Amino acid sequence: MDKKVLNEVFHNLDRSFFLDGPCKDLASFDEPLPIGYGQTISQPTLVVAMTALLDPEPHSRVLEIGTGSGYQTALLASFCQTVYTVERIVELAEKARQRLQALGLCNVCYRTGDGSEGWPQEAPFDRIMVTAAAAIVLPALEEQMVRGGRMVIPVGPQGWQDLLLVRKTHDGRIFRESIEKVAFVELVGPYGWHGKREDTE
Ligand code: SAM
Repeated sequence: MDKKVLNEVFHNLDRSFFLDGPCKDLASFDEPLPIGYGQTISQPTLVVAMTALLDPEPHSRVLEIGTGSGYQTALLASFCQTVYTVERIVELAEKARQRLQALGLCNVCYRTGDGSEGWPQEAPFDRIMVTAAAAIVLPALEEQMVRGGRMVIPVGPQGWQDLLLVRKTHDGRIFRESIEKVAFVELVGPYGWHGKREDTE
């Protein structure tokens, strides 16, 4: 993707639009901020860095797990064909939908529920962005990536996690690269920190 255009779109996207109440005044700080229900909007530099790492293309179909405020979704939607976004908290999902529709972003499909199994009915995806921390790379998500696809996902225990770039080659091999340390909220469900997954790595 064109990093210059990414930076332009990023700087034109008003983060305060995705926040409520007194947090609106803090929008310009490069910090995670509360969005209610114990969840956070990530710091802007991380959102733009994760988007650059995902490297969506104009034809890309992108799966996003963790809609949150819709801020990251808005950035993704500006650079790809369609974003399929999943959020488990109904109130956040609805608010994000209203915001993104108000911005005129029509290329977003919404689902409310647990994103741990991805979105099988719409798979495969060219790109997958996970914005909550999992204990392991989710098998269903790796499966739902096209060959030549990329996934960005924070993986690790509560506290600090590794931000992983997962790439699936054209012959189906998987490569995982640790990019940096990050601190995300939990991906709630079987692959979260308190999950009851059966497979281990
Ligand atoms: N990227 C978002 C933004 O720009 O506002 C912030 C995402 S926030 C760090 C993580 C989100 O993942 C929360 O809204 C949380 O409810 C959601 N989440 C956590 N576990 C989930 C799951 N299993 N399925 C779907 N969403 C989940």
